This record gives sequence, C-alpha cells and structure tokens, in this order.
Amino acid sequence: MDELRELFRRAADHAADYRRTLVERPVGVPVDQAALNEAFAVGLPAAPTPPEQVLAELVAAAEPGLVATAGPRYFGFVVGGASPAATAADMLAAGWDQIAFNAVTSPAAVAAEAAAGTWLKDLLGIPATASVGFVTGGQAANTAGLAAARHQVLADAGWDVERRGLLGAPPVRVLAGAERHATVDRSLRLLGLGTDAVTQVAAGPQGTIDPEALAAALRDGGTGPTVVCLQAGNVNTGAFDELRTTCDLVHRHGGWVHVDGAFGLWAAAAPSTRHLVDGVEAADSWACDGHKWLNLPYDTAFAFCARPDVHAAAMSYAAAYLVGSGGVPAGADLTAESSRRARGFAAWAGLRELGRDGVAVLVERCCALARRFADGLTAAGFEVVNDVVLNQVLVGFGDDAATDRVVAAVQTDGTCWVGGTTWRGRRLMRISVSNATTTDADVDRSVAAIRRLARRTSEGMLHSRS
Ligand SMILES: *Cc1c(COP(=O)(O)O)cnc(C)c1O
Repeated sequence: MDELRELFRRAADHAADYRRTLVERPVGVPVDQAALNEAFAVGLPAAPTPPEQVLAELVAAAEPGLVATAGPRYFGFVVGGASPAATAADMLAAGWDQIAFNAVTSPAAVAAEAAAGTWLKDLLGIPATASVGFVTGGQAANTAGLAAARHQVLADAGWDVERRGLLGAPPVRVLAGAERHATVDRSLRLLGLGTDAVTQVAAGPQGTIDPEALAAALRDGGTGPTVVCLQAGNVNTGAFDELRTTCDLVHRHGGWVHVDGAFGLWAAAAPSTRHLVDGVEAADSWACDGHKWLNLPYDTAFAFCARPDVHAAAMSYAAAYLVGSGGVPAGADLTAESSRRARGFAAWAGLRELGRDGVAVLVERCCALARRFADGLTAAGFEVVNDVVLNQVLVGFGDDAATDRVVAAVQTDGTCWVGGTTWRGRRLMRISVSNATTTDADVDRSVAAIRRLARRTSEGMLHSRS
C-alpha cells in the first residue's frame, strides 16, 4: 500500500512541479513531433513494468511535447487554465475511479453533479428547474441540446423520433447565424438532421444573428418543426446574439431555441457583463463549457435543458439490468455517454473554490485584460477590428500575409501564444483571455513581445525587398 501512496505522490509532485513552471516556461516551443512519437513508440513489452518506472518513462517522454495551455500567457483558442481545487478533485475522481452512471454506481458522483448543477444554473441565469448533463465539451453539449430540440419539435408534429428515426419524419428546419460555431454543424450531422437542414441567417458586423433576417426566415419558412441556434459569445469577436427578443420571436413560431454559450454564457456570472445575456433564461437548451472560462481541467461541459423530461427522452436509455435514478433523470440519463467519468467532483470543487464573487472576478478580470490588450496594441499602431465586449480581441497587422507573419513569429517566440483566424475574409490575430492566473504584467509583457516581433517581421520584409 505504501508503494501506491508513493506512486500517487510522485504523480502529484510531477503535476505540481509542471504547474510551477508555467509562469516562466516558453509558451509555444517548436516541437519535433517525430521524435516525440518515437519516444512513446517503444515496442510493447511482453513482461510487466513496475508502475514507478512506467510513470518515470511517461514523464520523460511527454515533457518535451507538453503545451503550456494552462499557463497565464496562453491566449490561443479559448482554453482556460485549471484551478488548484478543481485539478486536485479531478485527481481524486481518478483515484476513486467512480462511475457517474447513476446513483447506484456512484451516489457521490450523482450528488456532486446535482449540487454543482444547481450552482451553475444560478450563476448562468438558467432556470433552477432545468436539467444538467455533465458532458465532455461544448461539442457534446450542443449535441445533447439539439437532440432535445429534435425530440420536441418532432413530438409537436406527432412524430416519435427516438422510436421511428428520421426516415419519413416531417422535415426539421434549423435556423442558425452565419457565424455559428462549427460544432453546431457536426452535432446536426450526428443527429441525422444534416447540414442541409440549416437555413443560414445573416449576421451583423460583429457576427451576431440579424434579428430582422431571423424574423423573415421564420416567416418565410412556414410552421413546420423549427430549431433555432443562437450564440452567446462568438468565438472570434466575443459578441452576443440578442437573446430576449429572438427567443420570444422563435417561441411565437412554435420553435425551440438552443443557445451555444460555450464560453460566453459566463458573462451572466458577472455584474458588468450580465446585460450581454439578457433574456438567456427564455431559451430551451443551453451549452456551456467548464474547461474553458471556468478554469476546470479538461474535459468538462454542461448541457442544460429547460425541460428535464425532454432532455431525458432524447438521451436516456433503459435496460433490464439497470436500476437506478428513481425517476429523476441524472448522470447518464442526460448525456451520450453510458459509463462516465465523475466530472461533478471537479466542477463542484472549482465552483466552491471561487465562490460567486470569485467567478465574477474571474470573468471581469479577463474582460479587463482583453481591453488592456486592445488598448496596448492600438497604442502601438495596430488595428483592433472587433468591439472588445468580452475576452476576445482580433488584431490586424496590415495585409493578410503580414498578419500571418506576426502570428507565426509570436507562436515561435514563446513569450505568449496567440492564434490566427479568418474573420470576414481577412486574416487576423486572435487573442482570447480566459485563464484565472493571467495578470496585467502578463498582458504587458505579451504586448511588448508582439510589438517587437511585428517590428522585426516588417523590417525583415523591407530587407528581403531591398
Ligand atoms: C469551444 C466552443 C465550442 C466547442 O466546445 P468544445 O469544448 O471544444 O467541445 C462550441 N461553441 C463555441 C462557441 C465554442 O467556443
């Protein structure tokens, strides 16, 4: 037993040592992927290996290929870090090896999900009566929400989609903004609705759905089964669809509103950003990530549904050998997984660690840091092209090629990491601030590095031209 304790300690020590390096570690280092593959690709040994040796080998092989996504100057995608208590809780979830299937396989996991779910709904402005499925990511949350949507709009048309499938079903129309997240399309594909079901609705300059265009599309489309996908937090600009009036409009047409709020839904948890999700409670289903802005470890997200019966009708299954949740949908009744990792422990711990005020501070600080980025880069003469309403900043450095050169230079420099994107036909640097440990100094240092590298790449071009 002492050997197991020593092994677990060593794993925890490695994790803590790694976390300590994040503040100074180069964020993006060029990696020799072939060498990394080779380090792992030792022949499968015939004989067992002592666990402590396995751990040492794993650490040695993985270290050169770890990306400091959990660190304070990683601004790529929208990743977020992983808070101390949530990470420790996730280690316990592995140590306890609980199956969050239902209250029989793990009463504790079900209780943690229930408690964390209650807190989440409170913070996100979602009705307390909604159901919450703890899923792997925004992708899975969109799939669960849209499965519930598919169930209900077809049930309203007299069609039982769980029993009969989609062959011969009344066609389902999906209205979604032109700047929706690509995972929405994959969810529609997986649900058999197909991307041809999408009527693309025009988006405004910040990428939000145009309410007039949505009204026209609803009017022109007749009264058949209709699902509308709205967005809280565009993945490029951070902008929000107008939720209150559009939910009302869709409901008057008998449709279902699904809100993809993978990171943007967290605006609800802070006083200064709450207005951005005004009316959010009126939607029918919501997708939100835990592993992005809430700074939970990967992977955790939440699929909320205003109607628990509909959520469970779409996602649950029954089998003779399963006994379980006693009529209240929980655990695997609300997700596409059957046997599941107990994600509720980390969610509960992360929320308990921050508290209501801590979550608000996290959201507001990231937004303030995004504005600091925008101000610093504007002052340096670069072009911030989006309204910085949240934690996202889009920056141009001249033409597409010039911007791509700066992004590439920043990525190899290692001071910070930023992504590139194409927004409205133009290549831009995309900065996302979603880590709880990022400071003013981190932003200032990153702005200085971007200035330096932008100057160097443009000088380099002048040299190569002359
Ligand atoms: C990240 C994101 C998703 C997908 O979430 P995953 O956690 O990567 O599965 C969906 N929608 C939006 C708006 C996102 O930002």
